Amino acid sequence: MSSPIVLIIGCGVAGPVMALFLKRKGYRPIVFEKVQALGDAGASLMLMPNGMKVLGLLDSHISSALQSEFQTLTGYWHGTSTGEALADSTLPATFPSKYTQPALGIKRTYLNLRLKNMLLDDGIEVREGWELTRIEEKSDSVIATFSNNCSATGSFLIGCDGIKAASRRAMLEMQGIHEGAPTFTGLVQMAGISQTPVSALGPRGSSMCNWYGQGVHAIAYPVSRTHTSWAVTLPEGQEMQETWLVAGKAELEERRTMLDKRLGGEFEPAVLELVRVAERILAFGLFDRVELDSDQWFSRRCVLVGDAAHPTSPHLGQGANQALEDCYHLNQLIPTLVPDCAGYKESLSKIESGLFKIFRVYAETRQPRTAKLVKEARRLGEQRVVVAGPELCRKRNASIAAAWADPGAVAQGFDQLLREPF
Ligand SMILES: Cc1cc2nc3c(=O)[nH]c(=O)nc-3n(C[C@H](O)[C@H](O)[C@H](O)COP(=O)(O)OP(=O)(O)OC[C@H]3O[C@@H](n4cnc5c(N)ncnc54)[C@H](O)[C@@H]3O)c2cc1C
Repeated sequence: MSSPIVLIIGCGVAGPVMALFLKRKGYRPIVFEKVQALGDAGASLMLMPNGMKVLGLLDSHISSALQSEFQTLTGYWHGTSTGEALADSTLPATFPSKYTQPALGIKRTYLNLRLKNMLLDDGIEVREGWELTRIEEKSDSVIATFSNNCSATGSFLIGCDGIKAASRRAMLEMQGIHEGAPTFTGLVQMAGISQTPVSALGPRGSSMCNWYGQGVHAIAYPVSRTHTSWAVTLPEGQEMQETWLVAGKAELEERRTMLDKRLGGEFEPAVLELVRVAERILAFGLFDRVELDSDQWFSRRCVLVGDAAHPTSPHLGQGANQALEDCYHLNQLIPTLVPDCAGYKESLSKIESGLFKIFRVYAETRQPRTAKLVKEARRLGEQRVVVAGPELCRKRNASIAAAWADPGAVAQGFDQLLREPF
């Protein structure tokens, strides 16, 4: 008897991880990715111990490979735009002993390609250039249709297609809901990876640094011994589409000049230097979406995972980590199938009848936590950037210093986040 086919939409973070888990449980996942050839994909990500723990379950090598390729985070530094410290913490240095995994700044492309290669090594089919357009649920199967006019039939479908998920749109439409485009948060980011300005940053070079200015925020963290990933967030009235296209030389210089003008005179030299030496500067709008109720995360044969279920603005650095937590929980609920065993047929029919319940328990477990974090990310974005004028900035800075003043309370706050999902 052949293994049940699981259609997985999206080969970003959640898609390949779900596929790898399910293959090991006796299913036949097929991953569909709209991009023709996965490659250069944005700048970087901060993987936290909660996400790293899930990656570690796939194979101990991925976690050690990430740690040898990238740089473990050892501190958090918060300061004014001119470099006056508001808070300085070595908490991340304790993560490996406390949570078995570090916080790690990584290049997004590296993670995407590594996960894709793990799929290929495990014999999992990856169909690139397949963009989901439609889903049709039957009593015994689900049919996905793609923009190349091809379709695929599976036992169930997992939508891991990110903030603009077509799986989410199709599932909501099945429930009679027509959702619009993602909501522009009114903030844009310009980001790059630059050679670390060692003398200007000093010991802060291995920390995540946040600089708070007047209506502008900058963040930087190491992604290797020599390089630092950075991003500047600014308010912007006009919606800027999310794009990871790398700017040409003229556009790069235009962005550099604009940032230099905007930050010069207010920001300390380390930030200006990061912008000055960047080999490329990405620019994109920040979006999120209206929160879904847990019963909107699934249907009879489809379920959403990661950004497709709970898209977030990036200010908390938890989007990918929460996508990984989703994978862990959904995988825990899906039963293992042992081929060639006497009860195989029976376990298959159990899955058929139990799918809806599995999806419901997963969604009810995950929705409250992710909804809270999406709201917190939105709040942080506003605190960082929307504050303008000296008095409001002074108050904002005082509240940041107060939030970090008690190391025990800070550690407890992080513990709520990082002790999950196991
Ligand atoms: C600037 C920025 C910085 C961030 N920094 C962090 C961070 O430091 N830490 C963190 O944890 N998170 C961060 N995030 C969030 C994080 O990137 C996302 O939460 C995470 O990538 C979600 O994973 P996912 O698998 O759900 O979706 P994605 O990684 O977005 O993957 C979705 C995949 O689906 C594909 N796809 C889309 N539509 C279709 C379709 N119709 N058919 C087939 N395939 C499709 C896409 O091409 C993509 O490959 C950041 C986000 C941004 C924008």
